[in-house]
Amino acid sequence: MMKNCSTCGELQPATSEYFYKCEHTKSGLRAQCKKCHKQYDKAKRKEYNNQYYHANKELFKKYNETYRKKKAIAQYINNGV
Ligand SMILES: [Zn+2]
Repeated sequence: MMKNCSTCGELQPATSEYFYKCEHTKSGLRAQCKKCHKQYDKAKRKEYNNQYYHANKELFKKYNETYRKKKAIAQYINNGV
């Protein structure tokens, strides 16, 4: 049996080798092929990371400042001044 991917439209064998398994569909396989699902996953993760970064921008900034200060102090101590 062959199956069309809902995203790229490519006809591929309806096996777990080409499609991820999914309990909620009739065929037991996802509508997206593995290739498309991976791409989708990657894009989603990137988007999530971006959102996370923007939501916590101030936190990251503060963290970086603290880190820099700590590093400066450590260097100061290491130099034995
Ligand atoms: Zn596909």
